[in-house]
Amino acid sequence: MLGAVAGGVQGASAGELANQLFGAHRAPSAQPPAVVGAYARGCAAGLVELAETGPGWQAMRLGRNRNWGHPQTIAFIKDLAGAAQSIGWRGIYVGDISQPRGGPMTSGHTSHQTGLDVDIWMLPPARLNLSRAERESISSISVRTADQRSVNANWTAQHHALLRAAALDVRVDRIFVAAAVKIEMCRTAARADRAWLQKIRPFSGHNTHFHVRMRCPADSPLCETQTPTVADLSNGGDGCDETLMWWVTDYLDPPPPDPDAPAPPPRRHPRSFTMADLPAQCGAVLTAR
Ligand SMILES: [Zn+2]
Repeated sequence: MLGAVAGGVQGASAGELANQLFGAHRAPSAQPPAVVGAYARGCAAGLVELAETGPGWQAMRLGRNRNWGHPQTIAFIKDLAGAAQSIGWRGIYVGDISQPRGGPMTSGHTSHQTGLDVDIWMLPPARLNLSRAERESISSISVRTADQRSVNANWTAQHHALLRAAALDVRVDRIFVAAAVKIEMCRTAARADRAWLQKIRPFSGHNTHFHVRMRCPADSPLCETQTPTVADLSNGGDGCDETLMWWVTDYLDPPPPDPDAPAPPPRRHPRSFTMADLPAQCGAVLTAR
């Protein structure tokens, strides 16, 4: 699977809903690991399973079968579990990664399609021997106030240290958090140690988990790098600027709409994607044994 991403799966499955086809697979493709396409429009071959329980982590919501990732993602998660222990946590609770072959999901996320996105719970693990049933019923905690403008008493210096460790990892492209989290990190980060803050990106939600997005791995020429880069978004700085504050001002209290503004282009949720909307190479990932 070399060369450019070819547009649109052709043939019998072209008109079928991609999330139904990818969501039905219980196992990865028996192919070398390779990411195809973009985080919110793609799939992945040869994904590997994050063990349900390991030294320093537990995968949550096992019933969803979304503990599958590119080997680079799985290696990162294991390292982050070690980092969590070195900052005083027992480890980490790991939320969704991807379906066994990636692809659009049957519910929830728009991204998480290529084995390169992983959600880490804000809840510090009290134990790492949760049963399957407990992993379905326990919920994470919010680290944000109800008005969305600041962090609450659940936020700790360990959260900051864990996010810093994740951002310093060269395999990580960016990390999505609630704006209130980034604002607090901007306020408290050491003046001489801020370059990594560029990777911490404000986004809606993300108050009960943070979302780590890995870079395109070297084995995946068909993986589409996200643009703009975090350096572009931050003008080379730490992103502690007016674009961050927008999330706690105009985003929460929108100014009246400009009646002359053109209507924004309609956006399709990946749940409506057919196979023809995915890179052609995803057809082979779907049908591989
Ligand atoms: Zn996520």
